Amino acid sequence: MAAQVAQIDATRCSGCGRCISACALQLFAFQTQNWKKISVMQNVDQCSGCGECVARCAIGAVKLHQKPVDECIIPNGVTTTPNDQLRR
Ligand code: SF4
Ligand code: SF4
Repeated sequence: MAAQVAQIDATRCSGCGRCISACALQLFAFQTQNWKKISVMQNVDQCSGCGECVARCAIGAVKLHQKPVDECIIPNGVTTTPNDQLRR
């Protein structure tokens, strides 16, 4: 998974569909929420972070965000979580 992944702000999305046509990996699809058509991301794990969808969205409703850090591998090879690191 890329260091950054796209994320849509559903409250801003106008449902224009430009991000859908921009994504070569076809990670977006239309969905209806509260009687409003919006774009939603599917299979976010496959996002390459290329930014094409961000460039195509005229209203800034899709942005790249740092991917969540679920776990870290410290030098002795032990896998731990960021919260474990803070407790040490
Ligand atoms: S390009 Fe922007 S406004 Fe249009 S569907 Fe995608 S996120 Fe929504
Ligand atoms: S950043 Fe690239 S791969 Fe990820 S959703 Fe946008 S267009 Fe698709």
